[in-house]
Amino acid sequence: MMGQSQKPIEEILKSLNGKKSVAIVGCGGCSTVFHTGGVEEVDEMAEILTGKGKDVKKVALPFAVFACYQPFSSMFIKQHKKDFEECDIILMMSCGDGLQTVRQILDEELSIVKPIYPAINAMGVSGGGPNIFMEKCQACGECVMGKTAGICPLTECPKGLLNGPCGGTRPDGKCEVDSDKDCAWHLIYNRLKKIGEADKINTFNEPQDWSKALRPRVFEIEPLDLHKHLGRTKKVIESLGI
Ligand code: SF4
Ligand code: SF4
Repeated sequence: MMGQSQKPIEEILKSLNGKKSVAIVGCGGCSTVFHTGGVEEVDEMAEILTGKGKDVKKVALPFAVFACYQPFSSMFIKQHKKDFEECDIILMMSCGDGLQTVRQILDEELSIVKPIYPAINAMGVSGGGPNIFMEKCQACGECVMGKTAGICPLTECPKGLLNGPCGGTRPDGKCEVDSDKDCAWHLIYNRLKKIGEADKINTFNEPQDWSKALRPRVFEIEPLDLHKHLGRTKKVIESLGI
C-alpha cells in the first residue's frame, strides 16, 4: 500500500485561493485504508470547503476502486464529466499516483485541462494494518530479500547497507543510528539462522544495478479481465459471509 497522510487543511485552503468551484476526488484504494481520501474523508472535506464558501462536487470512488487504476477510475471520472467541466480546480484525495492517473484521464480522454491539487502527501510503500503500517520497501527494482531472510536492508537499515552490520551495532542488537530500533542486520542474521541459512551472512552482496531505478519506470502488462476478477471477488466475499 502507499502510506500517506493528509496535508494540513491550511495548506489545502491556500491552494484553493481564488477558486470558487472545487471537484473533490477520493480514492477507494490505499487512501480509503489510510483514512485520507475515502468516501467519509471526501464528505468531511466537502463540508469544510462548503463552510469556506466553496461550491463543491464530490467524486468519491468506492472501496476497492483505485484512483491509480485507469480502467476503474476512468469509468467514475467519465460519469462526473459535467462536474469536472464546471469546476475551477480539482482536489485529489489520493497519492500522487492516483492524482496523475486522474489528471491523464481528464487531459487525454475527456480533454478537460484544469488545475489539480494534491490533498495528500504520499509516504512510501507500506505494509501492516489494521492500524499500524510500516514502510517496507523502497521499490529499488532489484530485490535482495532472498539473501537477507525476507527483511529489506534498504528500508530497515538507516544507512541502507546491502552488506552489514556496519560495525556500530549496539551490544543489545540495537541500531547505531537509532537506539530504539533493532539493527536490521541483527534481525537478518537471527532470521537467517532460524531458516538454516546463516552462512549467507558471509556472502558479499554486489552493489545494486541502479539503472533499474531510473524513473519514471514503465510497465507493459496484459490488461486485467475485470469481469472475471470481479466475479471471483464477489464469490469470495459471499463465501466469507460479508
Ligand atoms: S530489496 Fe528492499 S527496496 Fe528492493 S525491492 Fe526488495 S524490499 Fe523493495
Ligand atoms: S546498526 Fe545496523 S541498522 Fe543501524 S546503521 Fe548499522 S547496520 Fe544499519
